Amino acid sequence: MRVRAWLLTLMTFLGLVMMTGSVAQAAPPAASQAGRVLSVRMGGEGKATRVIVESDTPLSYHVFLLSAGSYRVVLDLPRVRWSLNGLTSEAGSGKGSGAVAGYRYAHNTATTSRLVLDLSGPAIVARDFALAPKTSAERHKIVLDLEPTTAAQFSQEAVGDMSGPKPVAEQTSRKPLIVVDAGHGGKDPGSTSKTGLKEKDLTLAAALALRDELMKTDRYDVALTRSTDIFIELEDRPTKARNLGADLFISLHADAGPKPETRGASVYTLSPEGEKRIDGARKQNDWILDVEVDSGRPEMVNQILADLVQRETKNQSARFGEILATKAGEAGWPTLQNTHRKKSLYVLLSPDVPAVLLEMGFITNADDAAAMVSEAKRLKLVRGVVGAIDAFFDDQTKLMAGR
Ligand SMILES: [Zn+2]
Repeated sequence: MRVRAWLLTLMTFLGLVMMTGSVAQAAPPAASQAGRVLSVRMGGEGKATRVIVESDTPLSYHVFLLSAGSYRVVLDLPRVRWSLNGLTSEAGSGKGSGAVAGYRYAHNTATTSRLVLDLSGPAIVARDFALAPKTSAERHKIVLDLEPTTAAQFSQEAVGDMSGPKPVAEQTSRKPLIVVDAGHGGKDPGSTSKTGLKEKDLTLAAALALRDELMKTDRYDVALTRSTDIFIELEDRPTKARNLGADLFISLHADAGPKPETRGASVYTLSPEGEKRIDGARKQNDWILDVEVDSGRPEMVNQILADLVQRETKNQSARFGEILATKAGEAGWPTLQNTHRKKSLYVLLSPDVPAVLLEMGFITNADDAAAMVSEAKRLKLVRGVVGAIDAFFDDQTKLMAGR
């Protein structure tokens, strides 16, 4: 079971036992179970502007006018995945039309996401409603009809909310999100070989190939920490995975060693030493766990939940690490002895996203380097990784069914 889904079950259970001691209604859908927003469109009809937000699941929403020095319409949603025009990202913006000058979207709190419409002038939300798809080809929609108004009326309306939260229909399950991290980049080349190879190029090539192969399976959503030769701070990599609600994080690297004959891939998960750094990394980066959001719980209970989440995440990372080491070997890729090692690495410090680091091979070994450069040989490894991810999520499905 995915960590966050597992967590929800746990929270529900503990919540019942500790807060009420009785059996209650099913828990509200977890933020991470919310769907993806697939498009934001707008068009004009006379003076009115219709804004349509499309998603793959029904979304509860809350719309209101905000007048903080400018005219805005705010649409608050449960935590969604922003996948506008096929690109998954944490935040973004787009051009408007009619009454809307432009729009911006981002995550708002740990459990909510927000779409802001920057208006070209004062307007009110004359109508808002949700539409379920009539055919399987259609998507769920939230429709907002904006009509121009006076500045005075806008200020009046902007004081309060336009409407209360809408009921949410049963959330459908979503695809697991795999975040692939190409190690190094930009001013940080990583390891280099005597022949002029740079680790940052090998990791990027492998990350792009892995993304393509994962997309072909149609089982996953995929996001990259970088898709070009840019520098990214270490701590921003797991932060990005967390912000996107990742179900698995894979960081790709290439090893270097003093002996040219040393070769082989190896898999790293967090060492016990590294686990001690998680709390520090959490505080430093303001990583808020889902369990910490509910203010109604005693602090002690939150701490217990946070510890359980970290332990479950660690177990899942270790399980995936084992599978990955095996599959890389089966794919005909040379692996080091004791391939599944544990290391304290910043990119693995996310407290609630299972994470592994794959050293694909040694850039300092001629055979390994040639294999990482070769598109065909690289694909062997990449397919091994995809096989490992398939096996990992197959296992989880079985586990979930067994619970
Ligand atoms: Zn590296």
